[in-house]
Amino acid sequence: MASDNGANATSEAQPRPAKPGAGKRVDHAAGARQFLAATEHAESHDERVWAMRQRRDAAVETIPEWEELRDLASQIKTHALTHLDEYLEQFEANAKANGIHVHWAADAADHNRIVHEIFQENGVQRVIKSKSMLMEECGFRQYMDAAGFDMIETDLGERIQQLDDEDPSHVVVPAVHKMRSDVSQVFSKTLDSDPGNDDAHYLTEHQRQATRPLILDADAGMTGANFAIAETGGFVVCTNEGNADLSANVPNLHVASIGIEKVVPRVEDMGVFIRMLSRSALGSPITQYTSHFRGPKPGGETHIVLVDNGRSERLGSEKFWSALKCIRCGACMNTCPVFRRSGGLSYGATYTGPLGLILDPSIDARRYSNLPFASTLNGSCTNVCPVKINIHEQIFEWRKVLAEDKQVPWTKRSSLAAAGRVLASPKSYRAALKTAHSALHYLPDWAIYNRLNAWGQVRDLPDVPAEGTFHDWYRKHRLNTAEAGDNE
Ligand code: SF4
Repeated sequence: MASDNGANATSEAQPRPAKPGAGKRVDHAAGARQFLAATEHAESHDERVWAMRQRRDAAVETIPEWEELRDLASQIKTHALTHLDEYLEQFEANAKANGIHVHWAADAADHNRIVHEIFQENGVQRVIKSKSMLMEECGFRQYMDAAGFDMIETDLGERIQQLDDEDPSHVVVPAVHKMRSDVSQVFSKTLDSDPGNDDAHYLTEHQRQATRPLILDADAGMTGANFAIAETGGFVVCTNEGNADLSANVPNLHVASIGIEKVVPRVEDMGVFIRMLSRSALGSPITQYTSHFRGPKPGGETHIVLVDNGRSERLGSEKFWSALKCIRCGACMNTCPVFRRSGGLSYGATYTGPLGLILDPSIDARRYSNLPFASTLNGSCTNVCPVKINIHEQIFEWRKVLAEDKQVPWTKRSSLAAAGRVLASPKSYRAALKTAHSALHYLPDWAIYNRLNAWGQVRDLPDVPAEGTFHDWYRKHRLNTAEAGDNE
């Protein structure tokens, strides 16, 4: 578990950005403002997430062939995705030959219904579940709750989030936005721990003692999968707590939910991905547990649900298909200045950070239309992505698609259109610059810092230089006046 050890304690209330109801747009800026107002949480989040980025850099430096690995990983994923139909069929045939039941789910509702039926057929009441972003995407925990099943998360970070009735805020460390004192409060309310004790070891042990009996008594276990191997029909789950092994091995019934994009051709490919996954995520050489599941345990039963849920459609999209290469390492989040400062829950979505900006609009363009604007487009996400997804370029493409689709508010569209016209003409640009420079000397504060200027609501403009614009300075010090005039 990487979500809580080491976080400081505070008496500050944990920020909880509002989640908009069905049909509403997520207001990331409002969520970010709320998160930043909790200054100790904001600072702790920034530090902890940045520390993961730094550990990733240190780990990468120990692998001289890192860039070759990135190329290889990207090529394997591209090959698998461009032959996905063949590899899925091969995977299904081999999994069945291993004694696994294989199901196909077209969407989230289909996934939830299939798993529900498997549980009903087997008289299941209590389910233990290992961390899975796909199940989050399907709203599976909420579905099971409503259907009256007893669902226990076995990943500690996810368990904290479950007990606090919150979504995960990060794909690898789901409770990274919480401080130790927040966890202490959650456990004291739900697990009857000492509210005055926020020692990480005490909290972890208390949780273990409270949850272990529930795990041992479960009727079924669920996992996701990091990779599904066509050649063997087996699948690989990577965890740092061994909780997937508990979920898969303690009960006799194991159900694995696997996105169709997780298929890779050969077991040999694991050599590339396993070397990259944990180094990119946490900066550790390997996850503590890398478990290969090939079939049911003696006397047991294994089911795989292969889930599409919009992936086929994404695969057919020229600009956005390569987002399917993602191995969910979270490196792009850890490096993103917007994610680090705004906290994952402000995205109001299953997938957060740069990864979320390129996945969420394909799930619901209207609801997540603000998200692609939560980026500086600095390209750092693309630079760290182990499978070389052009993340920042896709974010930019989404902005264009959403603007053309009129999913961007009129005020933003018209001001950007006006800015585009000015920036497209050097003459207009220089004229506008001069006007703005003089105007800023005389404009009263209310004309700059008002409700219509979102930028000015959270920032102060720097003092206007008395000696003129940068162009004035450049002309004076670097160019002779005649040349500058020619350039205009
Ligand atoms: S987009 Fe790349 S960096 Fe981000 S989570 Fe996926 S694989 Fe990791």
